[in-house]
Amino acid sequence: MALVVQKYGGTSVGDVDRIRNVARRVAKTYDDGNDVVVVVSAMSGETNKLVALANELCDFPSEREYDVLVSTGEQVTIALLSMCLQSMGYKAKSYLGHQIPIFTDSTFSKARIESIDDKNIREDLNNGTIIVVAGFQGIDHDGNLTTLGRGGSDTSAVAVAAALKADVCEIYTDVDGVYTTDPRIVADATKIEKISYDEMLEMASLGAKVLQIRSVEFAKKYGVIVHVRSSFNDNPGTLVTKEDEDMETVLVSGVTYNKDEAKISVMGVPDKPGVAAKLFTPLTTSNITVDMIIQNVSNDGLTDLTFTVPRGDFKKALKAVEETAREIGAAGVRSDENIAKVSIVGVGMRSHSGIASKMFRVLSQEGINIQMISTSEIKVSCVIDAKYTELAIRVLHQAFGLDKKDSKAE
Ligand code: ADP
Ligand code: ASP
Ligand code: MG
Repeated sequence: MALVVQKYGGTSVGDVDRIRNVARRVAKTYDDGNDVVVVVSAMSGETNKLVALANELCDFPSEREYDVLVSTGEQVTIALLSMCLQSMGYKAKSYLGHQIPIFTDSTFSKARIESIDDKNIREDLNNGTIIVVAGFQGIDHDGNLTTLGRGGSDTSAVAVAAALKADVCEIYTDVDGVYTTDPRIVADATKIEKISYDEMLEMASLGAKVLQIRSVEFAKKYGVIVHVRSSFNDNPGTLVTKEDEDMETVLVSGVTYNKDEAKISVMGVPDKPGVAAKLFTPLTTSNITVDMIIQNVSNDGLTDLTFTVPRGDFKKALKAVEETAREIGAAGVRSDENIAKVSIVGVGMRSHSGIASKMFRVLSQEGINIQMISTSEIKVSCVIDAKYTELAIRVLHQAFGLDKKDSKAE
């Protein structure tokens, strides 16, 4: 008998029939002799609707109230799934984050899980109950509701699996695994049987939203084996696990994109010590993560600084940057929301050169201008005009030998 944590995303619980389908899968796992903890997201589109309501009312909604609002979507699905399981004759009980409790820090809208008390869940599991947990939410130490950032139910599931020392954490979604790139963009994308935590971390942080990045951080830290699968079929999925030797032989294992960032440029910044700190400190204080940063060569003591921020934080970031730009006497601020970051990822890159230059060549052959570049040991990212995203992904996927028909990587 094993302890299985299963997470079902928004599409998988998108309507009543799909909730029934999830209930049947959960029941089967239980009937096979396992203890089952299910983590669910809100029905697809619901969280977006809640965010839109908040934005319609005010430009800068209170962060505390934002979390009170957006965490409600999951309350609906835990109740519906529990009812459905009960109507099928199973013992099932729903839990909101604070009823477990799942403790987080107080960073509203992107809180980090700090600890999970497993006492209540264990008692219920011991008397044969199927536990249904609301993903995406927790409670801070002052009793405020918090949420874990978009896509956060993945993290709830892996964290619950870690706390309960579950045998496996199955992430059920609307594709049957992690692919070499988004299978909705490249029909020839190949399913990856097994991927290392580090590669998955890079892919997730570079936009492969099939897993939220923090869920992979948790899985790596606590050695949770994650199995990404489809809730619509029984195909074997992708195992996210420790790196093994054959993983190194693949140079580029995936191509990712992120259209959820925006670019801000501060022009004519005085090139002297302390200026960058002045610009970025207000962003850090507001918990805005700055991603890529480039500073131009200085000309007459002035330089330009360009960086990217999550699009959800764009308005807040722009306001803060405009204030600081005035204070430091910069010439002006420009911004662009129509950008995309395309990246190639692979642990094999560590030991090979020429990968970045090949990427630049492939993009240039399509007339795609590269606005920013950043690299790490196992990835290369380029910021381009958003309108070329799909083209860039397709040509890179093909150039690095990832298409299904020639699945031999270069
Ligand atoms: P859920 O609602 O189940 O959490 P998400 O929409 O968050 O599902 O994530 C699944 C989606 O991730 C897929 O529909 C797919 O379009 C997208 N995706 C992006 N990159 C990848 C990739 N490399 N492999 C698989 N899916 C990907
Ligand atoms: N419902 C939340 C969201 O849409 C969390 C999740 O789906 O994982 O971001
Ligand atoms: Mg998701």
